Amino acid sequence: MKSTLITTGIAVALLATACNSSSKDMEDNDTFDYVVDRFADIEVLRYQVPDFDNLTLNQKLLVYYLTEAALKGRDILWDQNCEVNLELRPVLEKIYTGYSGDRDSADFKAFEKYMKQVWFANGIHHHYSTDKFQPEFGREWFMEAYRGAYPEDERGEYLAEAIFNPALYAKRVNQEDGVDLVVTSANNLYGPGVTQAEVEAYYAALRDTTDTQPIPYGLNTRVVKGADGKLTEEVYRIGGRYSDAISDIVASLRQASQYAENEAQRATIDKLIEYYTTGDLRTFNDYSIMWVEDTDSQVDFINGFIEDYGDPLGMTGAWESIVNFKNNEASERTHTISNNAQWFEDHSPVDARFKKDKVKGVSAKVITAAILAGDSYPATPIGINLPNANWIRAAHGSKSVTLENITEAYDKASHGNGFNEEFVIDQPTRELLDEYLFITDNLHTDLHECLGHGSGKLLPGTDPTALKAHSSTIEEARADLFALYYLADPKLLELGLLDNPDAYKAEYYKYLLNGLMTQLVRIESGNNIEEAHMRNRQLIAAWVLEKGAKDNVVELVKIEGKTYVRINDYDALRNLFGQLLAEIQRITSEGDYEAARSLVENYAVKVNPDIHREVLERYAKLDIAPYKGFVNPVYTLVTDEEGNPVDVTISYEEDYPTQMLRYSADYSPLTK
Ligand code: ZN
Repeated sequence: MKSTLITTGIAVALLATACNSSSKDMEDNDTFDYVVDRFADIEVLRYQVPDFDNLTLNQKLLVYYLTEAALKGRDILWDQNCEVNLELRPVLEKIYTGYSGDRDSADFKAFEKYMKQVWFANGIHHHYSTDKFQPEFGREWFMEAYRGAYPEDERGEYLAEAIFNPALYAKRVNQEDGVDLVVTSANNLYGPGVTQAEVEAYYAALRDTTDTQPIPYGLNTRVVKGADGKLTEEVYRIGGRYSDAISDIVASLRQASQYAENEAQRATIDKLIEYYTTGDLRTFNDYSIMWVEDTDSQVDFINGFIEDYGDPLGMTGAWESIVNFKNNEASERTHTISNNAQWFEDHSPVDARFKKDKVKGVSAKVITAAILAGDSYPATPIGINLPNANWIRAAHGSKSVTLENITEAYDKASHGNGFNEEFVIDQPTRELLDEYLFITDNLHTDLHECLGHGSGKLLPGTDPTALKAHSSTIEEARADLFALYYLADPKLLELGLLDNPDAYKAEYYKYLLNGLMTQLVRIESGNNIEEAHMRNRQLIAAWVLEKGAKDNVVELVKIEGKTYVRINDYDALRNLFGQLLAEIQRITSEGDYEAARSLVENYAVKVNPDIHREVLERYAKLDIAPYKGFVNPVYTLVTDEEGNPVDVTISYEEDYPTQMLRYSADYSPLTK
């Protein structure tokens, strides 16, 4: 149901490690330092904003004020995450900056790590597991530091409890079966004494199931219990909860509105202001429609209470903002592919009976992120598809975007992490990956999304649910194979999407390496593969390995005790992809459940235990951080002598603690 493709945790680690790249779409700047900080299980990166200087002054000013609106919401998320967060943060920061004891002591070093973890998670719970952090400094040490910083204050014991007592605020979002999810979750979306049953009864009474344009109840409220035992909602709006922060956001949105690129965008920003002013969720629906229908503007943004992963009941949206602008050059890629959708359909290796007579490509845009904020900072999605309301998606469509400067940063930062040296068979293959993996990986995604899923048709009378539990794996395999097959097609050179007939080999190599070996790092020892995308990748890779064995197309070889993938015949490999595509399209078109089941069971599920163990061991030695996030660039408004804005400059020098402390100093309307 959720439509935002949040790539977190190990998935990001894999993305970041599975590829290395050329600098195709970015300023060619080899000296740019992508890695900013490393602590606990986190690596903090920075990203570039290419082409910012090519925006018009008007667009730069629009971006500038939207980034201000983004940064001003930070405190909201901290408070949503846990009631202690906004009280604790300035205390931790004061100790961090002012501690006059031994800053080289084990306690202070452990405290510094904790500080960085809390910043990264926007609170005291891990951003991904939502478990409370376990501090490695002593409680006595903390109390002494606290009394040094706040001699008069009596809150130290409570804050120490919040930090050190594992039972207090134990988990931010509890999803465990059979317990009261509201009572046992430490987030601050529900007030004291509110139970899950009460919340469910409250919303059940409000909900109108006949409404074809339903209100997303609870999206922007905190539910509290009054003295009379009745529940009420504190609405996030001007004059309501978070009023000071929302007023600040609105002030920046008003400035942004003056620099809107067109009337439709101005009206969209103004509608958002109206929503923040009233808190009315019908207005939010109207805003979402205007937002999704504005496809002409180059600059775009998300700003509001959007994703509900932070609420175990899936109602309240965590505050977030991303400001971005369309990457015209990269979006040209998706347009070119979409415009040629019929050619690809007509020339695919599947039986003519299963092809579409008229195929329509889906176009998605590639964007450059200018700022990440709230729930998208420092950990961020790499692809977004909004709005979430299904009825709006059905009637008005959705926006699907790829944050290419973010994927680029992951990719660049992974350079030199040792992954390719450890797992890629030889230097020529490593060089091929360095040169072409970034572009072919992106093209693979474009072909998969824009064409693969939309290709082919079911025969008349085929039940669309015939493949049952195997349908997702088969569907993902179908889209991946379509993309793999065409990556090696001369048509891509003819369309100007690639400039070297061997470029596709980079993606072929990485795909098989991932499917046969490295993706296993996500699987715990002794387990099978369950997730559909992972099954699909192993299905394809294991099938071509087996079918190509007699001609030695692909093989697993041992060199000095380590296993490597070796591809001996790329042309034959492409043919095998084509054959499997034809078969999987047939299975889909005819609804051949037995054939689907046998492919999945034979190739996709079971793990080779020896290779699994080897991959886990080799990966562990590389010490690659499982989670990554970003610091933002710094935007500075330049004015003339009369105070008129004449430019916005961008710089990338800020380090992680400096940025966090600056945000706390300059964008903290709720902690003043
Ligand atoms: Zn897919």
